[in-house]
Amino acid sequence: MSEPLAPGSMIGILGGGQLGRMLSVAAARLGYRCHVYEPGAAPAADVAHVVTRAPYEDDSALAAFAGAIDVATYEFENVPAAALDALEARVPLRPGRRALATAQDRLDEKTFLAGLGLTVAPYAPVDDAASLDAALERIGTPAILKTRRLGYDGKGQARIDRADDATAALAAIEGAPAILEGVVPFSAEVSVIVARGLSGEVAAYDPGENVHEGGILRRTTVPARLTTARRTDAVLLAGRIATALDYVGVMGVELFVTPAGLVVNEIAPRVHNSGHWTQNGCAVDQFEQHIRAIAGWPLGDGRRHADVTMENLIGDDVFRVPALAAEPGTALHLYGKAEARPGRKMGHVNRIMPRA
Ligand code: AMP
Repeated sequence: MSEPLAPGSMIGILGGGQLGRMLSVAAARLGYRCHVYEPGAAPAADVAHVVTRAPYEDDSALAAFAGAIDVATYEFENVPAAALDALEARVPLRPGRRALATAQDRLDEKTFLAGLGLTVAPYAPVDDAASLDAALERIGTPAILKTRRLGYDGKGQARIDRADDATAALAAIEGAPAILEGVVPFSAEVSVIVARGLSGEVAAYDPGENVHEGGILRRTTVPARLTTARRTDAVLLAGRIATALDYVGVMGVELFVTPAGLVVNEIAPRVHNSGHWTQNGCAVDQFEQHIRAIAGWPLGDGRRHADVTMENLIGDDVFRVPALAAEPGTALHLYGKAEARPGRKMGHVNRIMPRA
């Protein structure tokens, strides 16, 4: 194995949201510094060593950023390809392009996952009304029309319950290249946070059970209510995905639990909201694990020492902070965002119960 990144090295993070903020804190704990690159508002700016505020299209800002860092990573998967080209020519990019390209396009992602022999929702590409009709013919209803690119937190999606909804669904996604997915009749949603190190070792956290509201993650609970066989299945398939992508870093794998087995919904090539429970449930959380992986360290101990429920504080939920702060067994993680807009993730709370 090559030498780990030297103490004091500069880690470049594309994206300065809360994930970049928590990655910067973890990097600092391991003796590194972070340089965050973010075009917009940056909760990470409060804790990073340096911040570049510039668009991803600004070649000279990107070149200066690349020249100032020792390794590049990202907390946001929709970084334009040209920006990554500019970076990759100068510094190691971890995770690499393949993972990002796969996760950026829902059609490529489904094709890749199905190619690994994993079960995904029935799907078909949609480019216009004719291909949507053909896809509906094959997949039936209920179905969900999703844009291939730039979707997150349920955005860029339209549900089709009857064939009559097709025109409205196409209008809702504004004719963007899309895929139609059959609705999976799941009993639960779970996710696996998996890490792969520079030398190829893989470690996964215990799967968490997720509840979404309005397309946004509301709550993650560990342990998930899974049989031992399913739990093993979930962890093994996440490891297979990471290895097939030659992945370095932490990745989130979202799964539907069905009577017929696990169905892979999507992968997120970054630390993941459903892994925030690890901050108070494990010796080494997902943020440190990611920094360890990209810095060439051995992966850390991610065994769960507590039962945890993570709840996102969205919009006005943040006003509950004083009451939550007084609750025993809770750990608060706030992102320093000034304005509590509806749907905005302001922080999260981990409720901890020691394992029996
Ligand atoms: P996504 O952005 O694809 O993760 O979708 C957000 C949420 O919508 C998921 O977490 C599910 O709750 C729901 N969802 C997405 N795709 C499907 C599907 N094919 N079948 C059932 N539910 C889905």
